[in-house]
Amino acid sequence: MASSSLADALARRTAAAAPELTEQLPDGRLRCHACGHRCPIPEGREGVCRVRFHRNGTLSVPRGYVGALQCDPIEKKPFFHALPGSDALSFGMLGCDLHCAYCQNWFTSQSIRDPEAVGSPRDVTAEELVGMAERSGAPTIVSTYNEPLITSEWAVEVFRAAKARGLRTAYVSNGNGTPRVLDYIRPWVDFYKVDLKSMDDRHYRQLGGVLQNVLDTIAGIHARGIWLEVLTLVIPGFNDSEEELTRAARFVASVSKDIPWHVTAFHPDYKMTDRGRTPVATLLRACEIGTAEGLRYVYAGNIPEGLGQWENTRCPQCAETLIERSGFRVLVNRLDDGACPRCATAIPGRWDGSVEGTTRTHGIPLPVF
Ligand code: SF4
Repeated sequence: MASSSLADALARRTAAAAPELTEQLPDGRLRCHACGHRCPIPEGREGVCRVRFHRNGTLSVPRGYVGALQCDPIEKKPFFHALPGSDALSFGMLGCDLHCAYCQNWFTSQSIRDPEAVGSPRDVTAEELVGMAERSGAPTIVSTYNEPLITSEWAVEVFRAAKARGLRTAYVSNGNGTPRVLDYIRPWVDFYKVDLKSMDDRHYRQLGGVLQNVLDTIAGIHARGIWLEVLTLVIPGFNDSEEELTRAARFVASVSKDIPWHVTAFHPDYKMTDRGRTPVATLLRACEIGTAEGLRYVYAGNIPEGLGQWENTRCPQCAETLIERSGFRVLVNRLDDGACPRCATAIPGRWDGSVEGTTRTHGIPLPVF
């Protein structure tokens, strides 16, 4: 359970939910449509995420704080086909609709459930966040570190202010969405990364989710014209079988062969410490599987060495290396107005020569509270 002081602190930082995400049920409960759980919430109770609650006939949702804030290379999100080599001001709130045992952001995502996770809210306005992005030269603001879908009203408030200043916006999400929430955020979100954690629904149930919701969300994001990249964290003994990786790649390719698929290495974290890191050979095999399934842009990550060409973007037509990377750093970007300089094949993504540049990694000082 969240400590009462944290629960009280979060309860003070709320606003009414968007009407688009709220449904009045005949029995007086309110159904929340911000994520795939679609909780029917009685008066005085909270949803599975514990940050959206029914109080005095209103669905109250988080507003006006961050639980984490940092400026990162956009490649760290990871987005490889969106403003390469630029920075992204990354913020998160607290809470999540899933409870993955290996969460790398458990400090913020599980702070409502787990007394060991001690993330706390710091007040900030949307305009202050936009000002921080501008001062740091970051052309993109990203909602990440906890699940952005469950705090979509706050993301939209921040992204409205960001777009008014010409910034781009992004979600880094578990993909447990609904058509309603995708319609709600579509005008405000430019780039969207989904974690496709498994192709086995039993595994998703262990994490607190439903596979079909994630598959529907991946298709729904692509159909709405939001730039989409998909990531699978390859976990030994959980989702690293040839059969499961093939199903994942086949599904992504069925939506579009132009969707970048990132296969990244697991390291023991949070409560999943019973297995070792993902071997390089497993990641390389996953890349070969993705390519065999027809995906044109497959990337390996989270291992410092041995990934070779799988960190780079290559032209699917003539095999020219277009963007060379090392980890989160862009070493060379040869794209010419979003196309291969050798054969002129257009490379899908969101490119903008006016903001591409050197990636800088640095912390942004938070306002003093
Ligand atoms: S965001 Fe998801 S978990 Fe939270 S109340 Fe809404 S439907 Fe339930």
